[in-house]
Amino acid sequence: MNGHFAAVGNGPTADYEHGIQVIDDDKAFKFVTTPTHLNEYLAQTHVAEAGFNYHLISVFGSQSTGKSTLLNHLFGTEFSVMSESERRQTTKGIWMSKNKKERADGGALKMAENILVMDVEGTDGRERGEDQDFERKSALFALATSEVLIVNIWEHQVGLYQGANMGLLKTVFEVNLQLFVKDRQSQTRSLLFFVIRDHIGNTPLANLRNTLIQDLTKIWSSISKPQGLENSKIDDYFDFAFATLPHKILQPDKFLTEVENLGARFTAGHRSTKDQEFSGGVFLPEYHRRIPADGLSVYAEGVWDQIVNNKDLDLPTQQELLAQFRCDEISREVLVAFDTVIAPLEEQQAEATRLGKATVLPDLGALGVAAREKAVKAFETQASRYHKGVYTVKRGELESKIDSRLKALYQAQLSAAHKAGVTAFSDAVTGSVKAGQKAGGSYEFAEIVGKQKKKTLEVFKKEAQSLAIPGVSWSNFKPQYRLFEKELDEVSGRLRKEEMRRLAIRVERWVKSRLGDAIGLEFNKLGSGRGGTGAPEEGEKPPTEKDLWDRIWYVFTGIVTEAETRFTDRAKSFDANEDEVQVGLWRLRRKSWVALRERIDEEVMESNILMKLRENFEDKFRYDEEGVPRIWRPTDDIEGIYTKARESTLGLIPLLSRFRLAETYAPPDLPAFIGLQPAGAEPEDEEDLAPIGGVDEEEGKSLEEEMTVLSESKRQDLVVRFKKMADGVYVEAKRSAIGGITQ
Ligand code: GDP
Ligand code: MG
Repeated sequence: MNGHFAAVGNGPTADYEHGIQVIDDDKAFKFVTTPTHLNEYLAQTHVAEAGFNYHLISVFGSQSTGKSTLLNHLFGTEFSVMSESERRQTTKGIWMSKNKKERADGGALKMAENILVMDVEGTDGRERGEDQDFERKSALFALATSEVLIVNIWEHQVGLYQGANMGLLKTVFEVNLQLFVKDRQSQTRSLLFFVIRDHIGNTPLANLRNTLIQDLTKIWSSISKPQGLENSKIDDYFDFAFATLPHKILQPDKFLTEVENLGARFTAGHRSTKDQEFSGGVFLPEYHRRIPADGLSVYAEGVWDQIVNNKDLDLPTQQELLAQFRCDEISREVLVAFDTVIAPLEEQQAEATRLGKATVLPDLGALGVAAREKAVKAFETQASRYHKGVYTVKRGELESKIDSRLKALYQAQLSAAHKAGVTAFSDAVTGSVKAGQKAGGSYEFAEIVGKQKKKTLEVFKKEAQSLAIPGVSWSNFKPQYRLFEKELDEVSGRLRKEEMRRLAIRVERWVKSRLGDAIGLEFNKLGSGRGGTGAPEEGEKPPTEKDLWDRIWYVFTGIVTEAETRFTDRAKSFDANEDEVQVGLWRLRRKSWVALRERIDEEVMESNILMKLRENFEDKFRYDEEGVPRIWRPTDDIEGIYTKARESTLGLIPLLSRFRLAETYAPPDLPAFIGLQPAGAEPEDEEDLAPIGGVDEEEGKSLEEEMTVLSESKRQDLVVRFKKMADGVYVEAKRSAIGGITQ
């Protein structure tokens, strides 16, 4: 259709020499075909990053009144202008370009930053039939976006109330009210800047201005106002500014100077007094549409879409939609940055989990909080410029997205720290105990546990604290800390139990070794036949065969009592509780008894006991009452002595057969000695315990049986063997007596 324009701005690599066509000839907003078009232009011209620090100006007026020419001179733009010779309409649709003169400092022209100018197709209807429609639409579009509307008119058009410009202004007023019906809270106003062209100079600007204001007021009163806005006044919505320019062709130099002066007015301004006079430039804050620059293209597209489809243009809704769109976009962007920090950490963690390793990631808390802070700050900087309500909701959504990621990371981190901590603790305690054992066994278990627990807790606490995010309640990990401490206590308990077992084994060994000597000694006394060798010590009742078991019981209980004291002292030193000590002592007594029984069994093993009986017998048979060896003579009553000694020794066998105390002629009170199973005992405490008759009743073995040292058959067997042996000794004695005579 129009080759020259189509060539411009059609591709993403377009140079924007002529600016960018925002609305094309067919009134399709350009984004429809190239969605990133305006965005890209704004990015390339660095307007996109300016937030609210930009300005939008639209120019209105009849065709071929030098609008494009004016803009090009004012802002250094390169909008197409009608060639002098052809006199055909040139500007099509709506174009936008950034002011190229803003950096021209030093001279008179010092303009506001980031001025965007929209060159709107003229509206004369000479070449377009549907002008009225486009006029409305473009006016609506300009009012929804621009701060300043430049109205370009010839001097000779001023006062022509019925002229085309007046029609345009009527349209502007009407669509403006239309917008305010939907947006009553709005504080925004617009500046109508009349630039009067070809000013000859006969009529001063002040007069032209009065005429124009009169006409404007007339138009305002003539338009039909929507319900509720019937009494609104023109200056509720508009400010006016005026300027004249000389004839460009007839007074080219003067034209340029005046344009320069005009340009100097495009700076930021404010109201100096209540009479609404400007101070500074024309850009008053209340003109700004408050659309952040990075949302301008989306907003403009949405607005145009509504306009083109003849929908009621509802700016608050547009702003909300824009906010939702942009907040989502910004959220995605900041999450990408967040991801680059967090995703690798998540992967590391997942990998560790796969391998079953408890990996504590270094600096996780610092990395996490920095990434979170950065994301939220970045979001806040950009998104907070948008609709407050939407922004607040979206910020909450972003935070919860971020937090759910961090929460998962942190929880996994703490469970790794938990596992690693428990292992470290357990290893450290075990290691110290081993080192202590190697160094001679002098170590304080409770001290080791206390020291390692403190150390391990400190490490965990530091990790948990490093994960805390200020002001974020889920990042308080006190419950996890308490859980960890509880587990350490459980581990300590287990380790203490093991230590108790080791202690028990040591004490049991000690008991066994003591019993080995002491019980052997008691049995050896049997061999003497008089209950002992050598003279009894002063005050000591001479031992007799009859109180063998009393002595054994006495020695045994003495050793066990001493062992109990050793066990208790040591166990208390590593903080074992009363229950644990009681269980340990109960086990110790049982094991000691079993050790004693084994020791006794060893003593009464056939070969051993037979030898003892023989010694006992020989002691009585071969020695007289004074302990002097007998020399047998044929006259001696060998048989009588033999029978006496044999019967005496034989009398030992029933004594040896049962563990009985002389005084009561009953077994010792073993059940009372061992005591009831303590309340604190657990099944594992009974695991390696042999049943004891009379103590463990359900075992079906009585105390009597437990105390049986020699069974009936063994006893008889022993009698037979002993007699044979004694007979041998007797025959030998006989022979030696006879031999003594023959000699
Ligand atoms: P637009 O259609 O309003 O954008 O007008 P153009 O800028 O394309 O200019 C239309 C014609 O008016 C061109 O031939 C210009 O040379 C001419 N023109 C531009 N400025 C002036 C001016 O200040 N006075 C007069 N008389 N003609 C002008
Ligand atoms: Mg033009």
